[in-house]
Amino acid sequence: MKLAGVELVSVDLPFRHDIGTAAGVHRTRPLLFVRVVTEGGEGWGECAALDGGTAVDPALREVERAAVDRGVARLDQAAKSRGGDLPSGAEVAPLFGSSAVDRMLAATFEMAVWDAELRTEGRSMAQALGTGPGFETMPVGAVVGIPADRDVGALRREVGAAVRAGAARVRLKIEPGWEIEPVRAVREDHPGLVLQVDANGSFRGDEDDVALLSRLADFDVLCIEQPLPPADLVAHAQLARVLPVPICLDESLSTPRRVRDALRNGSCAMACLKPARLGGVRATWAAHAACAEAGVPAFVGGFFEAGLGRASNLALASRLSQDATGLVSDLGDPADYLSVDPCGYPPVTGGWVRVPDAPGVGRRPDDAVLGTLQARRGWFPATYT
Ligand SMILES: [Mg+2]
Repeated sequence: MKLAGVELVSVDLPFRHDIGTAAGVHRTRPLLFVRVVTEGGEGWGECAALDGGTAVDPALREVERAAVDRGVARLDQAAKSRGGDLPSGAEVAPLFGSSAVDRMLAATFEMAVWDAELRTEGRSMAQALGTGPGFETMPVGAVVGIPADRDVGALRREVGAAVRAGAARVRLKIEPGWEIEPVRAVREDHPGLVLQVDANGSFRGDEDDVALLSRLADFDVLCIEQPLPPADLVAHAQLARVLPVPICLDESLSTPRRVRDALRNGSCAMACLKPARLGGVRATWAAHAACAEAGVPAFVGGFFEAGLGRASNLALASRLSQDATGLVSDLGDPADYLSVDPCGYPPVTGGWVRVPDAPGVGRRPDDAVLGTLQARRGWFPATYT
């Protein structure tokens, strides 16, 4: 498959409602898609970088710049050294370095190249990952942010809607001053619900925090995710020894090496793995294998993806759940938080979603919808000739 060129497509997707987390409020979801075009077809990748980044993830604009400056160039060079042939999906991630920006680029370009490859071969991502029978559908988990003005009534309504839609678990965002009361309210409404909380690193772990967070055990919380800042692997290990609620790490698990360090230190009993952050599907699969070996159940976490990125996570999550019993992943329909998703997503029925079986990674964005959204498109022709 000769590489013809790469197109970078930037688009702003409006959120259905403002999304509040301990890290701030998000109103729109700017997104970067990468389209890899070969003589025989094309493939699409979705970049999960958020507008403002996170404590450990670069902002979208930084990744966009790097996609122009070196993402396209590395793929172009790789094709050049192969006589113009597109490298295989497995060869893409090693073209990039270990920085946070490079891991995002690796994940995005890997998805695009792999999509092109799988479409040519007529294979789905689930088939390529070797997913066996019994894993064709996956349960869907919901994430509920901190409502405006910390309105407990609004929280109850949002959680109620997620539960009625069949969410197999709910992950509540918490922060100092918004921890016990929201959890108490949700537990009162839903005694049997699988409930996780996610602090996005907003606590400090002093004695008051330990006393406060310990009270979450009264409400049968499955785990508290990322209570302390991402760099604090040792502090998380110390906190884990005194807290009666298991710790799950998310932002701390920024690289496959950090995952191994966290497991070695006993910093977490559970893990939220994000392919975009870790450097792609293969990097995440390796990190998951390390978690499974350590007996740490994991799930695939979301970044407010559109349907393409989420379909990739869906196929990966189903393969990982075949390797080891894990937690419920963030696999809900992007239409839950985006008013317009140019990719679309398989229907979620009674809290379950079917893993895509069509050729390719998942859902490619629709050109007409991208046009309506006034996407900015830049074309970079291959230079091997
Ligand atoms: Mg999290």
